[in-house]
Amino acid sequence: MSDKESAGSPPSAQEHSLLLKNGIILDYFPVAMDAEPDPRVVRGDLRIKGERVVERGEDLQPQAGEEVVDLSGVTLLPGNINAHGHLYATLAAGMPQPTAPLETFTDILTEVWWPLDRSLDNEAVYLSALAGGWDAVRCGTTMIFDHHASLAAVGGSLDRIEQGLGEIGLRGCLCYEATDRGGKGQRDMTLEENERYLMKLAEQRPGGVPRFRGLVGAHASFTLEDKTLKLLGDICSRYDTGLHIHLAEGPTDREVSRERGWKDPLERLEENGLLHPGSLFVHGVDLSPLDMQSLEDHRCWLVHCGRSNMNNGVGRAPVDRFPSRCALGTDGLDDNLWGELRATYFRGNEGGRGPLGHQGAARFWLGNYRLAREVFGEPFGSLDAGAPADFIVLDTFRKTPLAGDNWLSHLLFCFHPWDIASVYVGGKRIYTRGDAPPADAAFLQDTAARIWKMMEMRK
Ligand SMILES: [Zn+2]
Repeated sequence: MSDKESAGSPPSAQEHSLLLKNGIILDYFPVAMDAEPDPRVVRGDLRIKGERVVERGEDLQPQAGEEVVDLSGVTLLPGNINAHGHLYATLAAGMPQPTAPLETFTDILTEVWWPLDRSLDNEAVYLSALAGGWDAVRCGTTMIFDHHASLAAVGGSLDRIEQGLGEIGLRGCLCYEATDRGGKGQRDMTLEENERYLMKLAEQRPGGVPRFRGLVGAHASFTLEDKTLKLLGDICSRYDTGLHIHLAEGPTDREVSRERGWKDPLERLEENGLLHPGSLFVHGVDLSPLDMQSLEDHRCWLVHCGRSNMNNGVGRAPVDRFPSRCALGTDGLDDNLWGELRATYFRGNEGGRGPLGHQGAARFWLGNYRLAREVFGEPFGSLDAGAPADFIVLDTFRKTPLAGDNWLSHLLFCFHPWDIASVYVGGKRIYTRGDAPPADAAFLQDTAARIWKMMEMRK
């Protein structure tokens, strides 16, 4: 594919047109949706009209009314994608810690995360998305696959997340974590919120690059009765949409299944039609080689969240055995995907040169773009003509050459959030270094303190 190409028919005159000159452009994929990854670094110009790149080449000439930006010595690369996050955890940093030691993963859920999600109200859900989106964009993240829970404010919660992310300018794939832990009444509300949001997306008129997509959300098989799994499978079938669920985050999933007389977690999911192609499973710490093969056979995704696994002490995921559809998520810690990639790579090397290496780390990194392509139907990860203009601008002094064969080393060892000069989504600059935060800090802190107080009452 040539470096200079056209995206076809010119956009309408009303669309903003931007010419970026003399950049060092890194992208990961050609624009064709079925193309294999082909990371490249070229010096050149990008012309953006509306929400897409329309031309890429050398020495492009400005057109009438076009904004021209000189990016000499500056690096452009596709926006980072988080394959699994929890924006509802944004206001958790610094909250009072449980007085008793947290000995098991179940303790962490019952003493920390479940009291939090039972304490969030409508306003806190929106502010968590807004403040979390702000954290994300400052790390160069332009798309979040969010997994939401707020049991005291279920109905409409996905709209509030959409609002918060939308005000920052980010893209999102949203769902609500359905669960049986609040009883049948709350279970039904969680299912209904998933379906309501999917129906809303389905009714929107197609046009342009989608800002939001949805999946069918569920917490984890150990908080889901068989009947609920069946209902989740029905929603997946009705909307031809995959599931987004924690799976085998340590041994708890399997242990609870044994205690309850249920089949193994993956078998339960499969029996209820939840190994839907495109389903997004998260963690996979306690999966056998046969389980991994089953995910591969069903064309499902498995997301690795290495820092979260370390933090929760749930064990080490067998990243060398993950299926070909694999990706990286931050699991609510933050939205710094470069940090997540580093942790994955470093841990892969811990105890001698591990099984992961550069090739394995690249497989996970590029998987996030393959996932976004599959779910959004758009060629993310490319900055060729025709691709959505979602990219990061890095203006930091580059001390070593960046090339198509060493890009991963730069992601692992050189790129940092403080290098980010600006971030674009859909051709629009949504962040510039030095921008004011989107909400008043004192107001956010008051909201966090209110939620923490509510958590103490609901434990
Ligand atoms: Zn999670």
